[in-house]
Amino acid sequence: MAKQASGAASMEFAAMGAAAGAGAQSSRKPSLDAQKGRPGQPLPPLDAHPVAALTFDDLPAVGTLPPGASRVEVATALVSALKANRLEGTYGFVNGDKLESRPGAPQALEIWLDAGMNIGNHTWSHMRLNANSVEAFEQDIAQNEPVLEQYGESRNWHWFRYPFLEEGDTVEKRRAVRAYLREHGYRIAQVTLEFKDWAWNDAYCRCLARQDEAVIAWLRQSYLDTAAEYIRLGREEELIVFGHEIPNVMLLHATPFTTLMLSDLLDMLRKQGFRFESLAQVESDPAYAEDPDAGLASGGTFPEQFLEARHLPYPSAKPDPFQQITQLCQ
Ligand SMILES: [Zn+2]
Repeated sequence: MAKQASGAASMEFAAMGAAAGAGAQSSRKPSLDAQKGRPGQPLPPLDAHPVAALTFDDLPAVGTLPPGASRVEVATALVSALKANRLEGTYGFVNGDKLESRPGAPQALEIWLDAGMNIGNHTWSHMRLNANSVEAFEQDIAQNEPVLEQYGESRNWHWFRYPFLEEGDTVEKRRAVRAYLREHGYRIAQVTLEFKDWAWNDAYCRCLARQDEAVIAWLRQSYLDTAAEYIRLGREEELIVFGHEIPNVMLLHATPFTTLMLSDLLDMLRKQGFRFESLAQVESDPAYAEDPDAGLASGGTFPEQFLEARHLPYPSAKPDPFQQITQLCQ
């Protein structure tokens, strides 16, 4: 994706939506109601005590701001919620170009770091590997490093999160970028759980401008219900792929709405038995040393990459709310 000025967040999200939705037949994450559960072996019950590391993408500025709000306010609220839940050390994945294009972004990043959080590399411009050459992608990774060096100071910022979770549409590209990351000391920050947490933010901002409290209450419930459904799906995907659940990495975005919802989301996870560990602890699990080693047309979570590469069925899912959300408070 080319460098963008203002409005980049919604373009990013539109592209993410396209990546996810275009593939009702073939993509990593067909819209939930397009997924067809296939009768197969019944899955074992979910673990009583699952583990997750939280991660936040597209720092330091992502998503439309509510009327009158600032990036500094959002970053302050986000780190306050994380600290209240003793989640210092959480990784946020940075696109350096946002520091230049978004007002308040440098201050927001300082707030994240001053609160004891970590940062990793998400490429300079949120580049899509599947639409670019290996050379251009590696250049975009390298271009981001001075920012990580400058802001990260002594932190280990050698964790890499692929934009759009795209690891290469050909196996040659996949292997080449993986080799580059290895040679440059990076570990890949895989994802096992994600629920398009960014998708409620625009509607939230619109409804806030209209002071439509009833619809905002609906958005909040929809966010938690959808998170619960996608988390179950992600864990079932692990059962299908690995035969057991693995410690999880959850992908979130530092949008105003996810910031607003974070404490409720964490409460829900704890009620489901989740406890939280660091990214390094989670990814020390041997499952993360595995690699589907295949070119994949769309991005996907770690278990989804194996489902796609091995042509395994997705677990069945309830209808999702994303179409409905785009129409609210218009
Ligand atoms: Zn991203």
